[in-house]
Amino acid sequence: MRILVIEDEKKTAAFLAKGLREAGFVVDLARDGETGLELARASRFDLLVVDIMLPRKDGCEVVADLRRDGIRTPILFLTARDSVRDRVKGLELGADDYLVKPFAFPELLARVRSLLRRAPARHKEHLRIDDLEIDMQRHKAVRSGLPLNLTPKEFLLLAHLARSAGEVVSRAEIAEQVWEIGFKTDTNVVDVVVRRLRAKVDDPFKTKLVHTIRGVGYVLKTN
Ligand code: CA
Repeated sequence: MRILVIEDEKKTAAFLAKGLREAGFVVDLARDGETGLELARASRFDLLVVDIMLPRKDGCEVVADLRRDGIRTPILFLTARDSVRDRVKGLELGADDYLVKPFAFPELLARVRSLLRRAPARHKEHLRIDDLEIDMQRHKAVRSGLPLNLTPKEFLLLAHLARSAGEVVSRAEIAEQVWEIGFKTDTNVVDVVVRRLRAKVDDPFKTKLVHTIRGVGYVLKTN
């Protein structure tokens, strides 16, 4: 997952880049609006973090230009505490969410992840984790070149875990995403499907990808 941070304040930029890298993202930095816009147009990012107050081209213009170009990458913008007008403008121009400065990093990370989960699937038509490949459009998964014979539910579960690869996904979230209902009573159903999924995805292979985080949920990762 690749994130472009457009922020001119050195400290904030460094703090964001460090935190996001530690969370497993690949981070590119731009120090002004023009450069940020060029980078966002030139390569594909999964998400943009855009400060509003930027030299050369402000964050609102960057958002407006990208949306005008038809670039639909999710955008989280950063704004000053008192500037309600900027917030409204940013959202109207096509940003997806905002965060008021100063903010705590965990809050930024939570918003980034939530935007990524909501992001259109076109960014992730083909996912790859280790030797596991998932074709989101054709609903097919292959490991080490061998097709995995998954049921539709198993596929949805695997796809959901893969989209959040490296992050722990709770049972409640899985229930909601895979069954599209708020499962309050019986998350054991999730465990049953996870067990079946494991039998196909992990049992025949040496490297295990589906890991249990006791009392919390599951995570798909290589180690
Ligand atoms: Ca700034």
